[in-house]
Formats: sequence, C-alpha cells, structure tokens
Amino acid sequence: MYAEIVKNIAIINGRIQAACKNCGRDPREVKLLLATKTVPAERIKVALEAGYTLVAENKIQEIKEKYEALKEIPHTSHFIGHLQTNKIKNLLAYDVTCLQSLDRFELAAKLNQRLQAKNKTMEVLLQVNTSFEESKFGAAPDDTIGLVKQVAQLEALKIKGLMTIGLFSAETESVRKCFRLLKSIQQQIIALNIPNVEMKELSMGMSSDLETAIEEGATIIRVGTAIFGKRSTTDRYYWNETTKI
Ligand SMILES: *Cc1c(COP(=O)(O)O)cnc(C)c1O
Repeated sequence: MYAEIVKNIAIINGRIQAACKNCGRDPREVKLLLATKTVPAERIKVALEAGYTLVAENKIQEIKEKYEALKEIPHTSHFIGHLQTNKIKNLLAYDVTCLQSLDRFELAAKLNQRLQAKNKTMEVLLQVNTSFEESKFGAAPDDTIGLVKQVAQLEALKIKGLMTIGLFSAETESVRKCFRLLKSIQQQIIALNIPNVEMKELSMGMSSDLETAIEEGATIIRVGTAIFGKRSTTDRYYWNETTKI
C-alpha cells in the first residue's frame, strides 16, 4: 500500500517529463505539490521520505491533526483551501509558508496585521476563479489586478504569483481556457511592474489536467488522487462552504 505511493509519484514524474518535452519546457520549472486532504499522516510521510516535501492542506483542522506526526520530517507547507478570517492565526502557528488561496482583501489585511505583530512575513498566491463557476472560490478575473494592487501595499505579504482550479471537464480545450486566462492575467500584472509583487508562480493543474496546465505555463502542479488514491469525501466539502456532508 505504501509502495504504491512511491510508484505513483514516479508515474507523475513521467507525466511531468512528457508534458514538458511536448511543449519545450524544462521539467525543473515545474514543482510537484502534494495535495494531502483526507490523507493520513503515515501515508504523507512515505512521500516526504521519498524526497517530495512540498505539501498542502485545505482545512486548518487537518493541518492540526497531522502536524505532530509530520513535523520531524523537514517539509514545506502551503495552504490551498478556503480560509475564514478567524482561522488566520493557525497559518502562523503551524508554519505555513505560503497561502495559495488568498482571494479577498479582508483576509489579506487581517493576515498582514497578524504577521506584522509577530514581525513575520508570508508568501501568498492570489486565487482566481477562472472557470466562473459559483461553487469555486477565488477572485473574479476582472477584479484580480485591483486586488493585487491592494495586497501589494501590505508589507508582510509577499505576492509570488497566481493560483487557480480549472474547470472540471473532460473537454481539454475548456480546461485549457481557464489556464490561459490565468497566464494572461499574470502577463498583465507583470507589465504593470507593481512594487512588492513577484509573478513567477502559476499554481494550476491537478491529477486529471496537469499536462494541459504545464503546456500553459504551470510552475506548481497540485496532485492528490493520482498519488494517494481516491478520496471518500466529496471535494465539494472542501471547495464550497455551503455544502454539508
Ligand atoms: C484536492 C485539490 C487538488 C488535487 O486534486 P486531485 O484531483 O486529487 O489531484 C488540487 N488543488 C486543490 C485546491 C485541491 O483542493
């Protein structure tokens, strides 16, 4: 069961290599992030010990539950879920390096305040709702540049790029549109040369659409299912607050 995880990572690496080759990119430009929601700590450990140390959770509760078991193994922790402002303090307490799901100014301002009080900084990616689905979090594409300008004023937040969840569709070209939109927003932001804004990272692509994301410029792909297996909890629980399970 554990050997499966290492084997699956090798398969993902093969897919990354092939996708990069297809579009003439250097595979070293693409980081593999383990999306570990619902995965127990022992299984995450297997991947960390194999040298894959970029991990992300969607819920603070799950970070809490796994923190002790994982802290002995050096790794980098990102957060990719919807975050309520009353949970911000946990990002600091559990050593989260990057909040990939920053989607509104209120959250940014409160996070900035808390970081400044502790004399710390945090990396952030702005999450953009490129699929225009109401069930997905993220800033509206048209609001993203305005939000970047506002967040850039907050000294404790270091903007590193953008994140999106593509449309769930078997039609590659519809999914590709989402990733292209993210890339085009990135290019527009770069052209504005905003102080305190770096736009190197594009976090996009998951188990089913990572090739398309890589072709469109992803620098971080977030993979769960294809490494750890199917989840028993519906993703709606993670992506839409109003859905109860
Ligand atoms: C679960 C999740 C992923 C990984 O999805 P898989 O289809 O399991 O690879 C990526 N990004 C976010 C934000 C997620 O919640």
